[in-house]
Amino acid sequence: RSAHVVVVGGGSGGATAAKYLKRFSPEMQVTLIEPNATYYTCYGSNWVIGGHALMDDIKHTYGALKDRHGVNVVQDTVTEVDPARRTVRTAGGATMNYDRLIMSPGIDFRYDAVPGITAADAERIPHAWKAGEQTRLLRSQLEAMPNGGVFVMVAPGNPFRCPPGPYERASMVAHYFKQAKPRSKIIILDNKENFSKQGLFMSGWEQHYGEMIEWVPSSQGGQVEEIDAANLTAISDAGFTRIKADVLNYIPPQSAGAIAQQAGLVGDTFWCPVNQLTFESSIHPGIYVIGDSSVAGAMPKSGHSANNQAKVAAAAIVRELSGQEPLMPSTANTCYSLITPDHAISVAAVYAYKDGTISAVEGAGGVSPADAPASFRQQEALYTKGWYDGITADIWG
Ligand code: FAD
Repeated sequence: RSAHVVVVGGGSGGATAAKYLKRFSPEMQVTLIEPNATYYTCYGSNWVIGGHALMDDIKHTYGALKDRHGVNVVQDTVTEVDPARRTVRTAGGATMNYDRLIMSPGIDFRYDAVPGITAADAERIPHAWKAGEQTRLLRSQLEAMPNGGVFVMVAPGNPFRCPPGPYERASMVAHYFKQAKPRSKIIILDNKENFSKQGLFMSGWEQHYGEMIEWVPSSQGGQVEEIDAANLTAISDAGFTRIKADVLNYIPPQSAGAIAQQAGLVGDTFWCPVNQLTFESSIHPGIYVIGDSSVAGAMPKSGHSANNQAKVAAAAIVRELSGQEPLMPSTANTCYSLITPDHAISVAAVYAYKDGTISAVEGAGGVSPADAPASFRQQEALYTKGWYDGITADIWG
């Protein structure tokens, strides 16, 4: 009997893992379980929010995984994992045995971290931190907002999905406001003291948007302590600062996907500890956790990271099942961010296993130069699109 590997989640990590398992070991049986027939990438969703791309531009389906790569794609939700019996159960009533399980369920939101707001409020106060309906909702609220209105974003503390994401979002919203409602304002209430590519973002904001974006670090009133959901108001400074929004984008603190928690894969943080060479869970053998849910040393929670981790886990499983030692993996991450459609910045890093953890290789990678001509920023905007096309073809193509 050929081995059966079940993959939970058809996002950046899971879809890559399923495809590469079949590529590394064509005789293996691979089942991918994902509730949605279409996946909208979070990458590119800020462009939609800023009116620079359409929902169809960030939409992907599972046809190629099924027809070209021979993955058994099941549209269902995993409701239970039994690590002892090595079975998963689904909402649709199926029970499946696995030899190895890969989990890439993304993130869950910790709405209990701040009083005054619950998950149900996301229908009025979008997080838009999972793409799809939430992206549409935030875009339509911004379109309905009057000129002179205030867009307030509450950004989470570390670690969270996509460290530069909130600041790219502010940029794209500013790009839209500048054209459509130039008297409007953007306030970022940040639950931390500094952020990814901060110098590059801030000089880009000054250059293109003047005073439109105000960033408030945690020590200066950015640490949000309560939300008055009915009045779209964020409260900080022990109640002294109340900021009323016309459009409120509360991005909650995060944790590993709910099913990873239910399966008992979460350690004493909110995330899943894994063997840093293979991504096998440190808690339950035979289960591999990749993507945002995992604790992956110095790697950020990004689509690029999830895609790389998926290949490491797939190779580790194929080698283990054929009695070979795991490889010494080397991985990479890049995150491009648009400040305008013609001005992009990036951060890149290469990672290797060192001192028991995934560490950034010194001297490899870095951020875009601080002083670069407009032509350089424009070139990076082209690379942004190239990166998107390349990675999505690698994942779902
Ligand atoms: P996901 O891609 O979220 O996939 C999880 C999948 O699991 C989902 O399809 C879900 O339906 C499924 N699932 C969940 N629970 C179950 C269950 N019980 N049963 C079955 N299936 C289940 N990354 C970059 O690299 N570059 C960028 O430019 C970038 N920009 C971003 C911008 C924004 C605004 C945001 C929010 C994120 C951005 N990211 C970017 C981050 C990137 O989207 C995530 O890090 C990446 O998608 C993580 O992959 P994942 O596989 O862990 O989770």
